[in-house]
Formats: sequence, structure tokens, C-alpha cells
Amino acid sequence: MMHLPTIIIISILLNSIISSFLMSLYVLKKQKTYLYWCCSCFIFVLAQITAALRAFIDLDFVSHYLADLFIIATPLAAILGIHAYNNTERTKFSACLGVLLASGVILLPIYSSSFGQLYTTTLIACCFCYAAYALKTLHLGRITHFLVLQICFVVHAILMFCQAALLLSAPTSVVDTQQALAVILISHIVLSTCTALVWPVLMFLESEQVLTDLANLDPLTGLLNRRAFLNLSATHLEQANGCKKELCALMIDIDFFKKVNDQFGHDTGDEALKWVAKQIQAQLREHDIIARIGGEEFAILLPNTSEKNAHALSERIRLAIKNQPFIYRQQSISLSLSIGVIKRSKDSNINDLLAQADKGLYQAKHNGRNQVVVAI
Ligand code: GH3
Ligand code: MG
Ligand code: MG
Repeated sequence: MMHLPTIIIISILLNSIISSFLMSLYVLKKQKTYLYWCCSCFIFVLAQITAALRAFIDLDFVSHYLADLFIIATPLAAILGIHAYNNTERTKFSACLGVLLASGVILLPIYSSSFGQLYTTTLIACCFCYAAYALKTLHLGRITHFLVLQICFVVHAILMFCQAALLLSAPTSVVDTQQALAVILISHIVLSTCTALVWPVLMFLESEQVLTDLANLDPLTGLLNRRAFLNLSATHLEQANGCKKELCALMIDIDFFKKVNDQFGHDTGDEALKWVAKQIQAQLREHDIIARIGGEEFAILLPNTSEKNAHALSERIRLAIKNQPFIYRQQSISLSLSIGVIKRSKDSNINDLLAQADKGLYQAKHNGRNQVVVAI
């Protein structure tokens, strides 16, 4: 088994570095989450130092009572950091402070007995459960990033519940129990340090993702915007040209959409656009690329798709909109689409391809709308 004092010293050093790093991130970005997490790491360092004093001084008040309070404050500061992400930490501040003060009172008569340890362990297990839950309520863009953090919290909670169970059970062999508790203590220190390391990385990834989304996504429908579509499609088209694979493009325009705005208002028009985007998306395969490239115009790139299949898909999309009205605020609004289809021709570029699909769309409008035209 690893040497506990070494683990504690490494953890104190790492957490101090992470704490300073988080503080500099806070100064740079003025995002309070970093400040709370910096505090959480720093408090964890204090907790380890005061607990480690047990080996040198016989002062239970410092090495047990204060250490326990610092250990409890660590996940509480982390929870405030999670809520600070949504600017809702003020509503939780008094609750967290209340838990800490109540613990201060509860621990006073029991801190030097095993009940003190049991209380602290169970409470931080609950705090980690809550932290995992709080992360879930944040509605973050990239859930996968925060899944890692959630797993850290859940594993930590399980670990703490195991420790509480060990403390509760009458040990058959005191030596075995002590060994198990030492393993849990080491895991607790390692896990806390890993979690502290994961935080800034995930926050950084999330803010990078927000910037990428702002640059590439249409804010109304959440689909790709024109720029991102052109970039992505150009790459797919180059590949298809290189391997001489089938590929098709669609241009879609909502018929008489101006009338929807005029009759029902711009807000309803916006909702109708979102609904149409969803209905079209529901007909596509995972690797098809869809974008909102203009006001009420959508473009779709269909890799590995023949003209016949592209036409069939276009018909499905047209019927999905035609056969069910858009219902909004008890109003039923009938919509239809005109669609132009084009298949990749030899060495075409993306602008040519879309211009040809646009010709099909123009023809569909000209022929009376609510139809699919394959351009030649
Ligand atoms: P057509 O069948 O010829 O396509 O007729 P249309 O009325 O759809 O075509 P037109 O290009 O004349 O009008 C498009 C309308 O789409 C004009 C504009 O009010 C509306 N529009 C464009 N972008 C948005 C948007 O983001 N939200 C809303 N609500 N309406 C939009
Ligand atoms: Mg239109
Ligand atoms: Mg239009």
C-alpha cells in the first residue's frame, strides 16, 4: 500500500497549485465559479494540514474538530461553485453556511469520538450526492464534459458511504478495519485532487464550446449556420469527389412564410421555424448535414446518397410538414415546403452544387410550390 504521509504531502502541494491556478482564472475571467472552487481546494489543503497535525501534537480541537469542519466546508464550497455557474449561488449560500454552522455545534461534543468521524463522513457523502445532482440541473451545452465530474462526485459519495458503513459495523478484526479505512482515506485524497484537476479543464472546454457554438450555430433553431455548413459540406464533397461516391444536396424553402408572420406575428413565425427545423431533422440520418442558411431556407447535404433516395427523402420531408399543421397557442397553421434536389456531378464545388439545387427550388416555386424538383 502507498505511504500515507507521501500521499498527503503530494495532495497538499497539488491542491495548493490548483487553488492558485483557479484564483488566477477567476482574476482573468471574473467567473465566480473559479473563486469558489479555488476556495474549495484551499480549504481541502487546510483540512489535510490540520488533520495531519495529529501525528505531531495532542490537540484534538485542532486536529479533529477544525479538520472535520474544513473537510465539511470543502464540498460545500464546491456546491456553491456549481451554482455560481448559473449565478444562483446566493440562494444556496445561507443553506451551505447553515450546514457548516450546525455541524460546528453538532461536532462540539462528539469530535474526539468515532461518532464525530461518522457524522463528518455521512455528511460529505450527502454533499457529494447533492453536487452530482446540482451538476445535472445546470442544463449545460455539452453534457459529456460534466459527466466525468458527475462520476467523480458519485464515486466519492459511494466511497464516503462505505467509510461510514465501516465505522458503524462492529469490526471482527480491528486491523482489517483500520486497513480498509486507510485505503478509503487515500482514495478520498486522490479523488479530491483528481476532481480539483478536472474542474478547470471542464470549465475551459465548456467555454470553448460556447464560443464554437456561437460561431457555428444558428441561435434560433440550433442548426448549423451557413458558414459552418459550407465549411463542413466542402470537406464531404471533396471526399466524395475523390472516391467518386454518390452525394446529394437539398435546398428547402418554406412556402408563403411572409404570410405566417403577417397573420400570426413574428414570434409565432419564429416558433414555426423551430418546429419545421425539428420536423426536417427527424427525417434525417445521423451523418446527414442540415443548416439554416437564410431566413426560412434550409440546406441539407446527404453523403453516400443516390438521387433516387434523395428524392424519396425530400418527399418524406415535404409530407411530414404538409400532413400535420403546426399548432401554437391554440392556433393551427398549415405550412408547406418547396424543395430542390441535386446530385454531385464530376468535380463540382459546394457553391456550384447549392446553386444547382437552388435552381430546382426555383422551379418548384414556379410550378406552384409544395413540391420536390430534381435539378438537371
Ligand atoms: P415563397 O413561397 O416565395 O418562399 O414566399 P415567402 O413569403 O416564404 O418568401 P419571402 O422571401 O417573400 O419571405 C420570406 C419571409 O420569411 C420574410 C420574412 O418575414 C420571413 N423570415 C425570414 N427570417 C425570419 C425569422 O428569423 N423569423 C421570422 N419569424 N420570419 C422570418
Ligand atoms: Mg419562402
Ligand atoms: Mg426564402
